[in-house]
Amino acid sequence: MSLQHQGIGMTSQRTRDRLISQLQELGIKNQVVLNVMRKIPRHLFVAEALASRAYENNSLPIGHGQTISQPYMVARMTELLIEDGIPENVLEVGTGSGYQSAVLASLIPRVFSVERISPLQEHAKLTLAKVGFRNINFRHSDGGWGWNACGPYEGILAAAAPSEIPQKLLDQLKVGAKLIIPIGEKGEQVLQRVTRTEPEFDVEVIEPVSFVPFLKGRV
Ligand code: SAH
Repeated sequence: MSLQHQGIGMTSQRTRDRLISQLQELGIKNQVVLNVMRKIPRHLFVAEALASRAYENNSLPIGHGQTISQPYMVARMTELLIEDGIPENVLEVGTGSGYQSAVLASLIPRVFSVERISPLQEHAKLTLAKVGFRNINFRHSDGGWGWNACGPYEGILAAAAPSEIPQKLLDQLKVGAKLIIPIGEKGEQVLQRVTRTEPEFDVEVIEPVSFVPFLKGRV
């Protein structure tokens, strides 16, 4: 591992381990998720000026009015996604910094990630290549359409909150697959886990959350 990946001081392994302990205190139990997050250099997914804050349990700005998701939220959503086994393929809506993509790609053989803001996705691609990920496919698109050509998926995870679940995402779930998605307007969002149980969908409401809005179109 290069020195840059290892980090020093506020990005050292000790600092990262402290974040993992915090996640455990907050109720994250899945050791596979915790181990992966212990290793991923989150400081490389934010601007250098914010690197010293990368192992705090907070979201941070990544430009274009967007944020890198809070580590607790990344852990929780991943845990909910893989609870009954590791999916073969996953669609991620909202690449953002690429940090959640890195967590997913450490666990799941094939990750498909869509993002509506092109410069964010281009930057994430570079970061993820630098860190060494080869199993992520990217598409600059409105995730409300899903990514039909590569589906159906054994899991879908969205990092932005629509007011209701986009039908295309439901359509692109395999039977038995799970969609992890925040739903609702600012200030009243809840995280949901939707399982496709042909011919229906099971909806579990997990907890209140705060995500950036799911927007239409691409820029
Ligand atoms: N998991 C990412 C989260 C970034 S914030 C990270 O940790 O960095 C959510 C992202 O979703 C933003 O980059 C935003 O541009 C994107 N987004 C919002 N609505 C979208 C849509 N309809 N399609 C694709 N991406 C969307």
